[in-house]
Amino acid sequence: MRLGKHVSIAGGIDKALDRAVKIGCNAVQIFASNPRSWQAKDLDPATVKSFIAGRNELDINPVVVHAIYLINIASPGEEVRKKSLQALKTDYRRSVKIGADYLVFHPGSHTGSGIERGIKKIAAGINEVLAEIQGSTWLLLENVAGAGTQLGASFAELNSIINQLEEPERVGVCLDTCHSYSAGYNLTREEGLDRLLAEFAEAGPGLDKLKILHINDSLYELGSNKDEHAHIGEGKIGREGFSLIVNRQEFQNLPLILETPWFDDREDDPDVDLIKSLRQEEEI
Ligand SMILES: [Zn+2]
Repeated sequence: MRLGKHVSIAGGIDKALDRAVKIGCNAVQIFASNPRSWQAKDLDPATVKSFIAGRNELDINPVVVHAIYLINIASPGEEVRKKSLQALKTDYRRSVKIGADYLVFHPGSHTGSGIERGIKKIAAGINEVLAEIQGSTWLLLENVAGAGTQLGASFAELNSIINQLEEPERVGVCLDTCHSYSAGYNLTREEGLDRLLAEFAEAGPGLDKLKILHINDSLYELGSNKDEHAHIGEGKIGREGFSLIVNRQEFQNLPLILETPWFDDREDDPDVDLIKSLRQEEEI
């Protein structure tokens, strides 16, 4: 099983690897720059080198980058969209530079301009980024909880974005359990998972596009469209829900990435340990 957690890059991106290993992870997710700022300082070449060497030595796979939060390439506002595209390009360039396998970002909000227009803008934005920057890093659209005018809570929307791409082979999907649950998929039951997988396969982009799972419990109820992550077993999906999720056959080969709160006061990470204990893997 490949299990990672979103860890801090304080002190340099290369420091993130040790943080992941220390809590028992063999995969990692990081920000490539300050997630709440449009400005990104240049990556220091020595840090990049040390990151790549460390990642190989420690066998950290995959390396996932999460794009900054401010990005909204679906925005009808020219200024916001311009800045968003710049920021996504910066994140993509950095991801390629550090050899990241995936760059995850949220599709965006149409803020009243309509679903179809929003989707067109997202697809055009992705086309622009990928045409400008070559690289083997996959760009992953993450499904969202569906608050307000957010796009990408529905798998059909994710599919229409991908269908409008010039290089769809460079784009996939990251499925977040908290977002799926608050978007109305009842992951506490086998039937809920059946429905999610069937919709993803039929109306959505298809299971071959599913590249990673963000595993987070949800603080809010089913269908609430609210996005607040909880520690595994402490939210509405619960321990039993995660037992179903991590053992589901369709998810067996997918990297699992936790985005649960960090435990500052301890050396281990109970979320990592719990996921490992829930996964029934055959002994090798
Ligand atoms: Zn997520």
